[in-house]
Amino acid sequence: MITSHKTQELLHELIKAFALKKYRLPCSRCIVGNTPLQSTDKQSILHRLRPKVIACFSHFEICKQCERIYWHGDH
Ligand SMILES: [Zn+2]
Repeated sequence: MITSHKTQELLHELIKAFALKKYRLPCSRCIVGNTPLQSTDKQSILHRLRPKVIACFSHFEICKQCERIYWHGDH
């Protein structure tokens, strides 16, 4: 039997885990088609990035459907 207290605790843990995941992966889906993004090699998209982006970010993801590039910093 799960008590109401345990359920609430579990829910709280889930929310915390979800919030953390969201923070670490702010754009895991394409805003255009909601397509899951794929990690991509920085070298292969270097020509499409602005110098400031190249200098500031190291983790890039690409939408295979519309080829939009997403990036986020390493914290
Ligand atoms: Zn897309």
